[in-house]
Amino acid sequence: MKNVAVVGGGLMGSGIAEVSARAGHDVIVIESNEDAGKAALGRLEKSLQRAEAKGKIDSASAVLARIRVETDLGSVADRDVVVEAIVEDEAAKVALFKQLDQIVEAPDAILASNTSSIPIMKLGVVTSRPTQVIGIHFFNPVPVLQLVELVPSLLTSTDTTERSRAWVEGSLGKQAIDCQDRAGFVVNALLIPFILSAIRMFESGFASAEDIDRGLVLGAAHPQGPLALADLIGLDTTKAVAESLYDEFKEPLYAAPPLLQRMVDAGLLGRKTGRGFYTYA
Ligand code: NAD
Repeated sequence: MKNVAVVGGGLMGSGIAEVSARAGHDVIVIESNEDAGKAALGRLEKSLQRAEAKGKIDSASAVLARIRVETDLGSVADRDVVVEAIVEDEAAKVALFKQLDQIVEAPDAILASNTSSIPIMKLGVVTSRPTQVIGIHFFNPVPVLQLVELVPSLLTSTDTTERSRAWVEGSLGKQAIDCQDRAGFVVNALLIPFILSAIRMFESGFASAEDIDRGLVLGAAHPQGPLALADLIGLDTTKAVAESLYDEFKEPLYAAPPLLQRMVDAGLLGRKTGRGFYTYA
């Protein structure tokens, strides 16, 4: 697989584009409009310059030269693998997979989703090639975290799963775990209820955000506390994943607490907007 497209150049999409270009792939990033495209390019430049300064890559500009940011979805026609990383919204993803199915020409191209919680089957069945639709779920920040969850639906072929594994492990240098097609897969099914419990604890006044996070960092050796992690993930994404888990399992532990809902309504989405449980410069 040589030619890669990433649809959605936000937090995750720009990271997936970066690791793909660093692995030598020709990468197209599709964004929804010019401004979002500029923001995606800015994120890529900043991250690659940081990698160059740390000596992780020789040249940020050489990697950037392999990435094109565009707004025309039609330009993904010649891609071998397309990774969808748009907002966590089922209707939006379904609409996109219908379009990708019409546009992508290679008969064996892989149509992947980076969704955190939406069943892969819902995306596969709206295409004429559900055997080639798979979840390839990266973790944030993509250039740093090693894990990828591979999520075949009941209709995904073994060939698609194995070619996806070969791409993420052999080419991108990640490590894959295999998951069933259930909301949240392995990591978020465990992580999201933990973060929601921390939000409930903070919301009830039981402890401050700082003390909750310090507790888990100092007492359980977590690299960061659950509220700082929610800010990093994005509170909108955290809420969307919780809602998908709740829809799937109907368990109260997956229900988004009111504070999370109000913060999202207020646009306090965490690091990406400068304020969530903490304030960022
Ligand atoms: P984000 O809001 O940072 O980025 C989404 C991007 O998609 C935005 O830049 C938006 O302009 C663009 N977009 C929306 N609709 C589009 C369309 N139709 N065509 C092209 N671009 C479009 O969100 P994110 O955190 O990068 O999440 C993206 C996906 O990755 C979601 O499915 C999310 O669940 C998943 N994910 C997120 C994390 C995380 O920690 N944030 C981790 C793993 C997976």
